[in-house]
Amino acid sequence: MAYVCDLGSGQRISLDGQGAQTIVAISSNSAGQQQQATSSLQTGTWTAPPEVYRTSEGVVVKLQTANGTQFIQIQGSRMGMVATPPSLTNAEQLPTQQTNVSDSTMQPMKPMQPMNMGTMQMNLKPMEMKMGDMEMRMGSASADSINAAKPAPTRQFCTQCGASIKPSDRFCASCGHQIV
Ligand SMILES: [Zn+2]
Repeated sequence: MAYVCDLGSGQRISLDGQGAQTIVAISSNSAGQQQQATSSLQTGTWTAPPEVYRTSEGVVVKLQTANGTQFIQIQGSRMGMVATPPSLTNAEQLPTQQTNVSDSTMQPMKPMQPMNMGTMQMNLKPMEMKMGDMEMRMGSASADSINAAKPAPTRQFCTQCGASIKPSDRFCASCGHQIV
């Protein structure tokens, strides 16, 4: 369970509760340079989503854990647990967002999802298009089975001279070629 919080001015923190550990990552993006500081703190297992506050002494993370309420103080790129909880009476609470992936790891590329816009749907493999109740499909197994299910042509032609022959004919009426 990871949460990110945007601190503004290109700085953001991510909080990842992994068992009794909380992984705190501070990433700042200033002058096109990205810097990241990560710390693993022994906080205890979370019992509630973390709360982030901006105080006069820096950013404070309030964690409700199995070990009680814990506070992490962040100043610049330094962070640590504080024994004495800072006063949060005048602090501004910052919104946090839940993410599936921890910020401290590279986010893997998501597999391509089928495009879906209202009633329109498009898949690339097999080529498939759906709009309302109109449907188009190419290269799918069902298209092949439609072709295979087609009845065999009743008219045949001589492989030798190209004359039309009946299916019952054993020899071409035109050139006498044996029909195989
Ligand atoms: Zn023939």
